[in-house]
Amino acid sequence: EMFGQLTSGLEAAWTKLKGEEVLTKENIAEPMRDIRRALLEADVSLPVVRRFVQSVSDQAVGLGVIRGVKPDQQLVKIVHDELVKLMGGEVSELQFSKSGPTVILLAGLQGVGKTTVCAKLACYLKKQGKSCMLIAGDVYRPAAIDQLVILGEQVIVPVYTAGTEVKPADIAKQGLQEAKKNNVDVVIMDTAGRLQIDKGMMDELKDVKKVLNPTEVLLVVDAMTGQEAAALVTTFNVEIGITGAILTKLDGDSRGGAALSVKEVSGKPIKLVGRGERMEDLEPFYPNRMAGRVLGMGDVLSFVEKAEEVMREEDAEDLQKKIMSAKFDFNDFLKQTRAVAKMGSMTRVLGMIPGMGKVSPAQIRDAEKSLVIMEAMIEAMTPGFCFFFHLISFNTKQCLILVWLRWTEEREKPELLAESPERRKRVAKDSGKTEQQVSQLVAQIFQMRVRMKNLMGVMEGGSIPALSE
Ligand code: GDP
Repeated sequence: EMFGQLTSGLEAAWTKLKGEEVLTKENIAEPMRDIRRALLEADVSLPVVRRFVQSVSDQAVGLGVIRGVKPDQQLVKIVHDELVKLMGGEVSELQFSKSGPTVILLAGLQGVGKTTVCAKLACYLKKQGKSCMLIAGDVYRPAAIDQLVILGEQVIVPVYTAGTEVKPADIAKQGLQEAKKNNVDVVIMDTAGRLQIDKGMMDELKDVKKVLNPTEVLLVVDAMTGQEAAALVTTFNVEIGITGAILTKLDGDSRGGAALSVKEVSGKPIKLVGRGERMEDLEPFYPNRMAGRVLGMGDVLSFVEKAEEVMREEDAEDLQKKIMSAKFDFNDFLKQTRAVAKMGSMTRVLGMIPGMGKVSPAQIRDAEKSLVIMEAMIEAMTPGFCFFFHLISFNTKQCLILVWLRWTEEREKPELLAESPERRKRVAKDSGKTEQQVSQLVAQIFQMRVRMKNLMGVMEGGSIPALSE
């Protein structure tokens, strides 16, 4: 669980304030020690922790009583705001060039996820309507070039390659020319990583940077390396001058030290975060949502945004109309379950809803299993109309084809299934489920219509037809 360890470390602090009337120098002493310990265990660098704790204590003492707000809630709020500040306050947007292609130069040590980020970033920018091109500049690992080409194909973005015999700065120059020729909006250049910082790498990056004159120079760092990541951002910034960082593998980071330290230590913002291995798993770094996650409040905004993005694709307006007119059918049902699948695993989606983080893995597995069963049954329902062919041959040359059309719109008209035991029997047989399961599913869609309608604030209509025996 992302930041899980830090979250539970901080929880200790709040519980110690239960029953207090007001925050005082005395009663915050112990909670502040808990906060300090939790941050150090999260691998936030010591000077940062010291400043953080000092600032929180200063604000907490003498805050006075706010009607209806308990002292522990007050402290949570102060810590939240301070965390947001620590991570840079506002989201730090990518900058785009006003004339010619925007050039993004990526740097980073080996294995941090740099090559993956190239493709993810292109995927992310494409969604914003920008055309992209990648330049393969990792001349030390031929495999890295192949990997970039494969990823480029995956996200359908051209990749400029020049093999491993050409100097990176020359590859950069040629790639940029190619991009200009093709009127590409954004060029993303992958560069060679090393296991450690060395002079050769820095010199190479400086040369490439000179040639490209990039709008963004982003250092890719691995969240799992904690405060070390923050130190790297500082070093690269001093050496080559960067505009920000991309933090990868946040999905596996239970501690949070990198996310919390980078801005404060290096002065450079984290612009984007990688939260998984899929091409879609790259998103802006939102300090206030991160703070919310650290405090275990559930990342509601991220969830809503993700849901909105999926729903946009699924034509939300159309769906709303259907719900209003109680026409929500099995096709919509399928679309919805697939939208959930698109948003990532259910575990992750549920984890983003406050109060849902505690659903047990077993419960989630059950829910996922029942979705699979439902899908199988819906697949067995007839969609729209079907043609039936009948071939009557007289001899080898002549034949009569009988074609007839039968309306069997079971997915659009759940009523058909509600009224006909024969249809339910057939669906059960075709999907390999029991008739009882099919009946349950049919009943469910009518219940959903009513529930969704109520949810939308429309109270009229929506009766549940009984299943005929
Ligand atoms: P490079 O050497 O910096 O180019 O690293 P790669 O792009 O080859 O990535 C190294 C490994 O990290 C690959 O197995 C990636 O799938 C994985 N990886 C990259 N980004 C993420 C991320 O955000 N989350 C997770 N879980 N894995 C990632």
